[in-house]
This record gives sequence, structure tokens and C-alpha cells, in this order.
Amino acid sequence: MRVRFWGTRGSIPKAGPSTLRYGGNTSCVEVRADDGTLVVLDAGSGIHELGLTLMRNGEGARRGHLLIGHTHWDHIQGFPFFAPLFSPEGQWDVFAPGGRGHQIEKSLHALMSYEHHPIALDSLEAQVCFQDLVEGEFQVGSIRVITQYLHHPTLTLGYRLEVDGQVLVYATDYEPHSLHPMRGRPGAQPIHREDQRHVRFLGDADLVIHDAQYTLDQFPAREGWGHSPAERVVDYALSAGVRRLALFHHDPEHDDDTVDAIAVRAAEWAAKGVQPLEVFAAAEGQTLELRSDAPRDTTAEPRRSALLSDESHPPATVLLVEDDPDMQALLRATLEDGQLRVRSAADGEVGLRMARTEHPNLMVLDLNLPGRDGLEICRAVRADSDATVRDIPILILTGKRLDEETLVEAFSAGATDFLVKPIKPTLLRSRVRGWLLRHQPGSPAG
Ligand SMILES: [Zn+2]
Ligand SMILES: [Zn+2]
Repeated sequence: MRVRFWGTRGSIPKAGPSTLRYGGNTSCVEVRADDGTLVVLDAGSGIHELGLTLMRNGEGARRGHLLIGHTHWDHIQGFPFFAPLFSPEGQWDVFAPGGRGHQIEKSLHALMSYEHHPIALDSLEAQVCFQDLVEGEFQVGSIRVITQYLHHPTLTLGYRLEVDGQVLVYATDYEPHSLHPMRGRPGAQPIHREDQRHVRFLGDADLVIHDAQYTLDQFPAREGWGHSPAERVVDYALSAGVRRLALFHHDPEHDDDTVDAIAVRAAEWAAKGVQPLEVFAAAEGQTLELRSDAPRDTTAEPRRSALLSDESHPPATVLLVEDDPDMQALLRATLEDGQLRVRSAADGEVGLRMARTEHPNLMVLDLNLPGRDGLEICRAVRADSDATVRDIPILILTGKRLDEETLVEAFSAGATDFLVKPIKPTLLRSRVRGWLLRHQPGSPAG
């Protein structure tokens, strides 16, 4: 497999003398399997030069597969400028995370509407097919693609590409659910179960291309922006047994020397790990050949199809476990609509019983409950013998900001996320919808 970086910058293109070595174009990576299958990861501004190169090399008429991680601007802004889309013989399949109201075709239509761009999506001359995705797997040419959601402020997928006995994982943009353990050794397992799941997704990869926009020191001022500190990414890669780690999605405020410094820091941290890990900062124009004497075993058990069908989804169920009747009424009024059914319980014991019998898509759980408190319920759900119960995402509601110790305890108990009261209705709705999109009825659990 051959990999080439066409854009490595995050958030916004940054041209100029300060970004000459690592490049100023936003996310775009070209992957070619040995049999010629072509995959393009993201359509940031870097895709413009890739398109021109394909046309120059007489590849305008070929078939290609564009895999978009999410539809933030820096990952799609190059799409209208990708020359092969204007070649009548070209055939492009465009994949992106789907779900309620998140269709890729709709997003690109908006991007190319007449207020924003002179050429409409309908005017592309190549044959372009759009496919919305959920978690699962699908095949493009010789490449097996496995998808998994990433923690980011919009619906985002990571892509695991398995071909020719090699594994490449493309995981940008991602923010750790929890930075803990803060004082662990390099390669320590994260405490949050969703971060642990992320580590499994990277498992045994020959190359991981991962968001590493900040350092741990810079992170507190940027928490919630959806990106990773490089040191924690090294921990994930070590913990997952990865061979090479490309730090990616460089901050637009970081000049080449700053990116150098982050790469050095990350490599020093990696050197303290128990197994070898090569770490480098991805640079625009860089090409990598993935080949090894000991190919990975890539024949793990099959997963569900990641291709989202058009059939409508049944309404999702949210189980609300809250003892205060006023709060319960308020939350119910905020959440309930045609697509969402809210069930409620006034104490933990009843809530646990309903989780086991009704299999909700999400639990919203108050921390302070009469009888068994929220964390006890959380632990009981995570220890359940039924996987559909064990994997229910749990959003914790708390009356006060959690101190470090309680936070670690909550995530260790299996909490997925938490919100501090008083809760803004818009924030509650967006968090609940975000988790429901990631755990839709019928979507693979675990
Ligand atoms: Zn981005
Ligand atoms: Zn983003």
C-alpha cells in the first residue's frame, strides 16, 4: 500500500513562509493498494493538487473512492475544486457518516449552492455516487474498510483500511473523552471505556494517521474543540501496539518549528514505552510505502455493513432516571419529539430494571438518587450479562462541577459523558442527539 499526504493542516489552510515544510493545505491523504484501488481520505484544500496530478497523469477517467471523516469545512472545502469530478469518464464513490439529517449529498449541495460556489453539485460531469455510513465495514476494490465513530463536535468517522496484509488507520479529528490517567506511564490504558474502544480501533496498525493538534500543556485552553494532545495520542498508539504514528491536523497557529517541537516531544514520550513506536509529524508531499516482512493478520471476524440504507429508523428511546419531578418534567419537555421517546424512572433500582427490559438507546442518569446512587447504577449496567444493556451510553447529570477524583470515579464506573446542572436545553439536546446518532437502533454495539 502507498500513502501520500496532500494536506496535513487542521481547521483552516495556512499558506506562507511559516508552513513551508509541513504544508498549509487542510486534510487530504491518498492511499493506493497494490492492485491500484484508489482511496482518498478527506477533501480538504489538499485535494486540489491531487486532482490536478491525477489529470496530468491521465487518470481523470479512472474510478476512485472518496472517504470523508466529517463535514467540517477543513475536510470538504476542496471538494468543488477536485478536477476529476469534471471529467465525464470519471467514476467517484463518496462516503461519509450518515444518520438522521446528516446526509453527505445534502451537505455538499449546501457547500456548492449558488451563494457559495458558481458550479452546482448537479453540474459535476463525472459519475458521482453518494453513500452515507454508520459503524461497520464495507469493501472498496481490494480494500476492506472498517468505520468507527470519533469523539468530535459533529458526527465523525475514523477509517481503518486493511489490504495487502497491511493496516492503516485514519483517525482525525478526535478529542479524548478523558485525559486520565494523567500520571500514567507512556502507553497506559485510558480509563474511559470509549477511549479504550478507540485504542482497539487502532489495534496493531502498521500506520496510524491521528489528530495531534496540541500538546498536553496547550490542551486545557482548548478543551471541547474536538482535538488531541500529541502525548495522549502516543499513549493510544503504544497501548494499541501500533508500528508508526503520523501526527496530523497541525494547528494553523503552529509554524514549522513548533510542529518540529511537538514531534520531538511525542517521540521522546514514545521512546519511554515498552515497545518500539516510530513517531513523526506528517508533511505535505510526503510519501510512505507500507510493506513488511510479517504482514498483519487482517482476517478478523466480519462486522455488519457500514452502508446506511434508506429505510426509516424507529424512534429512539431515552431512559431518564431522575428523582426530582420538576427536573424530570423539564428534561422530558426538552427532549421529547416525534423521533424520540422518553421513558422515566424516579429511582435507580427502577431505572436499572427498565434498562434491562426496555433496552433504551441512551440513559440520562442523575448522580444523586435515593437508594442506589447514579454511579452504582452505572456499574451495574456495565456489568450486565446482556451486551445490549452493557453498551447503552450513559449521560450523567450532576448538581455541581465534578472534582478530579469524582470525575475519574465516574468514568471508571462506565459513564459515557456528563452534564452539569443547570442544564441549557440546547446543550442537552445536542449531546443527546450526538450520542443517539452514534448508537442508532440496529447499529452495531461495542
Ligand atoms: Zn478538522
Ligand atoms: Zn472537525
